[in-house]
Amino acid sequence: MVHQAEKLSKLIYKNMNNWSNIIHSRLYPTTCFICDQPGYNELDLCQQCLQDLNAATRSCAICDIALTTESSICGRCLKNPPSFDSITSLYQYEGIAQFLIQSLKFQAKHSCARTMGLLMAQHIKALNKQADALMPVPLHAKRLNERGFNQSELIAQYIQKAIGVPLIQHSLKRIVNTTSQATLKANERRKNLRNAFSYTSTQNIQSVAIIDDVVTTGSTANEIAKTLKRQGVQRVEIWAFARA
Ligand SMILES: [Zn+2]
Ligand SMILES: [Zn+2]
Repeated sequence: MVHQAEKLSKLIYKNMNNWSNIIHSRLYPTTCFICDQPGYNELDLCQQCLQDLNAATRSCAICDIALTTESSICGRCLKNPPSFDSITSLYQYEGIAQFLIQSLKFQAKHSCARTMGLLMAQHIKALNKQADALMPVPLHAKRLNERGFNQSELIAQYIQKAIGVPLIQHSLKRIVNTTSQATLKANERRKNLRNAFSYTSTQNIQSVAIIDDVVTTGSTANEIAKTLKRQGVQRVEIWAFARA
């Protein structure tokens, strides 16, 4: 009986939530983050600004870095195949894409996560990509405390809602509070990240999609993939909003 009541109250709460979402969207239609025009397709971007986001033209089939040569795989991946299976990103890290990521991360503009998550979900659906679970790139507890939120986790929540793949948040952890990667060279980044993550699998997960806002060198992606594969995960893809 108690159980029934609990179920019912959850259901009412869920419906109230849906209703409040509907009412909210009628009362506050979406507005473009960039130019304040009405949003397109329930996004906080208008059609013009959406078109101004630059998709990468040709990129490496594995690490998604922009390519200038005819080959499908970049020299770095050929010479030193990474531990992840592939990186899929939507946009180049510049202009509007960069603006959205920085507004979310540094100005805590959480509504950017919704637009980014919805755009990523559309892209993933169009490519028919599959995974057993989504996992956001984790922040170290100290960093999470300072920032108050994990931007990748916020984005992942919207992707989960849109594509229905379960989101697993606490199995993959960042156990070393690495110094900021931005100022380090590539080989220093790799050293800096060694054994920075831990993964405790609770279920039999064969394939994981790591959700990231922006991939820069791919060192973080590589170290996470290494950690997951050591624990028996077969396939690790990175789904990112942007690629630097
Ligand atoms: Zn606009
Ligand atoms: Zn590559």
